[in-house]
Amino acid sequence: MKFTDFNFKDYINQTLENIKFEKPTEVQQKLIPIVLSGRDLVGESKTGSGKTHTFLLPIFQNINPELDEVQAVITAPSRELATQIYKAAQEFVKVNDKIRVSNFVGGTDKARQIKKLEAAQPHIVIGTPGRIHDLVKSNALVVHTARTFVVDEADMTLDMGFLADVDQIASSFGKRVQMLVFSATIPQKLQPFLKKYLHNPVMEKI
Ligand code: AMP
Repeated sequence: MKFTDFNFKDYINQTLENIKFEKPTEVQQKLIPIVLSGRDLVGESKTGSGKTHTFLLPIFQNINPELDEVQAVITAPSRELATQIYKAAQEFVKVNDKIRVSNFVGGTDKARQIKKLEAAQPHIVIGTPGRIHDLVKSNALVVHTARTFVVDEADMTLDMGFLADVDQIASSFGKRVQMLVFSATIPQKLQPFLKKYLHNPVMEKI
């Protein structure tokens, strides 16, 4: 299988060329079609499998830059992990600067972020659950327009006590949102969240 089999937009294929991804990883081959189909997904997969692009590629494929609203929200349990995803997303923005991506993590200037959000909402939000929830509560960040919600490293999110924030963010979505949950393990304590927000999810262990 090749990346061209997915019929991604030109700027996405250009990004893949720039970052020198020649072939989808096993996880990408298996999961990208599921994500593109719009179904909810629980992916039991480890870092290093290429899972970041499993969700980033379909998200970018479906972004409409003409719509001035949040279309995807991605949470990660630490500043470092969120920033890693943000850096991967920046490679797409380098090729298509019409798409706005924001990284909202703790320990950064919230007032400045609120001011920027008053001017324009990003198309893709990446960040830690606490800061994203905070900005939503402040009515600065408007997420009910989102069509995709990614909870990355869900087990670590739970361990660090951030699942309540993730739950609050999830409850802010107005309409049916595609839920993509990635986790190294699926602990029992995660089940209530999965039951509450996921609809007939595909469960994949990779
Ligand atoms: P991840 O599991 O998403 O953190 O990815 C692990 C590493 O593999 C990162 O350095 C990615 O840039 C890289 N990677 C992901 N997918 C591919 C691919 N299809 N071809 C080459 N490298 C990749």
